[in-house]
Amino acid sequence: MVKARFYEKPYLKKFESIVKEKIVENGKIKIVLNDTLFYPEGGGQPADKGYINNIEVVDVQEKNGKIYHTILGDIEPGEPVKGKIDFDYRFLNMQHHTAEHIVAGLICKNYNAENVGFHIGESYVTLDVNVILNQEQIKNIEIEANKIVYKNLLVKTNFYDEEDVKDWEYRSKKELSGEIRLVEIPGVDLCACCGLHVKRTGEIGLIKLLSVEKYKSGSRIYIVCGKKALDNYNFEYDIVNKISVELSAKHENVYSSILTLKDEIKNLDKKNNELQNKLFDIEISNLENKHTQIIFKENLDMDKIKSLCLKLKNKVDRIAGVFSKEDDLYKYMIMSDFDDVKKISKEFNEICSGKGGGNTTMAQGKVYSDKEKIEDFFKRYDN
Ligand SMILES: [Zn+2]
Repeated sequence: MVKARFYEKPYLKKFESIVKEKIVENGKIKIVLNDTLFYPEGGGQPADKGYINNIEVVDVQEKNGKIYHTILGDIEPGEPVKGKIDFDYRFLNMQHHTAEHIVAGLICKNYNAENVGFHIGESYVTLDVNVILNQEQIKNIEIEANKIVYKNLLVKTNFYDEEDVKDWEYRSKKELSGEIRLVEIPGVDLCACCGLHVKRTGEIGLIKLLSVEKYKSGSRIYIVCGKKALDNYNFEYDIVNKISVELSAKHENVYSSILTLKDEIKNLDKKNNELQNKLFDIEISNLENKHTQIIFKENLDMDKIKSLCLKLKNKVDRIAGVFSKEDDLYKYMIMSDFDDVKKISKEFNEICSGKGGGNTTMAQGKVYSDKEKIEDFFKRYDN
């Protein structure tokens, strides 16, 4: 594990150093400094962002004990530099990292689980454990985790020789040797970790467990903390507020109002269907008696097309057809107890640029043609 100044001074934002080495890899300039405050990506925590001599640092990676800063500019070895890290971003990562230790520590202790994955993303943190947890268990963990925040416990980080800690019980995702860095939240968790943490748990502000889902043979938990938790609250509150205005309902009543609204829509749909069926009946009874009848409609779903076509079939002795316009095409269904509509629809599709299929008594599909051409095609069956 590389030892750098960010471990001793995780709250320091600016530093001075000298460029020790410069490499160009895939067209990207990467520099190594004598010493740095830039945290390299690792242990689930993203790389720091910031500036070196006002040149943007877009990535920081550790390789073979060296920390490489990818910069959008050029600085030569030997040059003195002033570095400045984006501390808002870093602090959020520290809050999230400590929160993850608290949540993982509680889950591992309460459910005899193991923490098998952790990632700080742009929008949230994901924590993977090897047990299946339900919403109620997650709610309880959230309450416990926030109690640890209120206690404002000191987060202790120390390097130890593996021999010194060989009998200690601490969490670790892999077998460790040599020097081991342990992060302790007293009474809550002891974990091997190379990441950066807040000094006291109170600095996390709020730990919000957004959701839990099954992941591999365990669970994945989505977490937000600090400002991200506030942003999340504002985002959700704004949505509830807008719904509340639209429904003229208090926040606490928006859910029941939506359920009432859904019921009303369902009843209206039912009434609408009944009325439409009556209209279909009237429309069909007013049609003159022909051997073949084709009706044109707009925006009917296939169920309605079918029910109209069935009614129409009783009125004719050859072919009944319903064509419903939707954008630049017609959805259609044709039925007959006399003619082979499978054969007819095949010919129809060829002539009128359609596609579809069916059986001898019913065929359906869509057709890219105009009304006149469709009517013209079926005229031949009206005798
Ligand atoms: Zn960690």
